[in-house]
Amino acid sequence: MTENTKNSILIIGGGLIGLSIAYKFAKNNFKVTVLSKNRGESAGFVAAGMLATHAEGLQNELLKFGQQSQKLIPKWINNIEKDSGIECGLRKCGIIVPFKNIKELEEFPTYEYGKYLNQKELNKEIHGINSIWEHGLVFEQDGQIDNRRRLMRALEKACSLHGVKFHEGSEVKDLRIENNKIVGAKVLIATGELKEIDCEKSILCSGAWSKKILNKIPVFPVKGQMLSIQGPANFLKRVLFGTTTYLVPRDDGLIVVGATVEKDAQFNQGNTPNGISNLQEGIRLLLPEALNWPQMEHWWGFRPCTPDLKPIIGKSEVENLFLATGHYRNGVLFSAITSDIIFKLIQDKTLQDIEISFLEKFSLNRFKI
Ligand SMILES: Cc1cc2nc3c(=O)[nH]c(=O)nc-3n(C[C@H](O)[C@H](O)[C@H](O)COP(=O)(O)OP(=O)(O)OC[C@H]3O[C@@H](n4cnc5c(N)ncnc54)[C@H](O)[C@@H]3O)c2cc1C
Repeated sequence: MTENTKNSILIIGGGLIGLSIAYKFAKNNFKVTVLSKNRGESAGFVAAGMLATHAEGLQNELLKFGQQSQKLIPKWINNIEKDSGIECGLRKCGIIVPFKNIKELEEFPTYEYGKYLNQKELNKEIHGINSIWEHGLVFEQDGQIDNRRRLMRALEKACSLHGVKFHEGSEVKDLRIENNKIVGAKVLIATGELKEIDCEKSILCSGAWSKKILNKIPVFPVKGQMLSIQGPANFLKRVLFGTTTYLVPRDDGLIVVGATVEKDAQFNQGNTPNGISNLQEGIRLLLPEALNWPQMEHWWGFRPCTPDLKPIIGKSEVENLFLATGHYRNGVLFSAITSDIIFKLIQDKTLQDIEISFLEKFSLNRFKI
């Protein structure tokens, strides 16, 4: 090992998880290089930014993972904001889940973590909510981050200021593996040339595209279409999380509306008339008058999904190649804890029992027969 490659980390994928890990290592004086095929396609720029551990009804290890990450997020964001000078829009605004009947409410997996709202209280919380909703749960511990306009940029800036080298437009085509160790990556760069980049240790964070690099990783894309509308500032104070659609109010009145869940769309680009009309119907079912508010933007992206909907975090079969992918619907929520655990794992730092249990549950080995 030369002095040059000592403590150096190669990150494959500059999306939300790649940036979060890059930031953690760079802040701890590692030399970090990020290879990024296309920053614009990252689901980190697509997500609604909900921190919805309880409103999503997460269960078992995913629930614990979300709860642990939510504990880390305020300090994590505070550091990113201080380092970047960009405020990230973290708000513990609470998320309301409405229900049509009491049976649905009582069967909700995280029912015990919510505060019950009757129809009158629901109306008081969300003026004009569709009268089909008779009950609600408010999860005051949940919230949001403005990932699309702020967090991603803040992370990129904080990383750059800590010396992270970004290779934008660089697509990893293959990994160079010798004696069960990754020694480098073959990279297609923007000029069309193939370049070899050496590495000491590497982390694969390529989101929905991960299987294209390592076929053993069972990650596939689940497309999501989104739009935004401009509501009156402070009209919606909390996120409204319906069965098919959610409304996420930013602090300036912009409301992010999501999202379709398209398992068969593969990597098909673009918004579709059907996708947009489904979102509009979702708005009508939640808050009819919001259909009259001006539409601002439409966009789409790809969630990195696994067969059991849980992320893949930890070691790979290759000694010095680590995995952080498959975060599906909750990558914003899980990014703080993922970067922490990967950092400790790579440095052989003592892991807490709960972190060890996450690594066991989220290991790639679970997919072996
Ligand atoms: C519609 C939608 C709504 C969502 N809402 C929420 C939400 O409210 N809350 C929440 O917690 N999560 C949400 N998510 C999920 C969250 O966005 C993802 O889980 C998270 O962004 C995954 O991060 P990632 O870094 O693994 O992947 P990405 O952010 O997609 O980044 C992967 C990056 O890897 C790059 N890459 C791929 N292949 C290569 C290669 N060969 N070489 C180099 N680079 C490569 C890509 O170009 C991309 O930039 C949502 C996702 C979607 C799509």
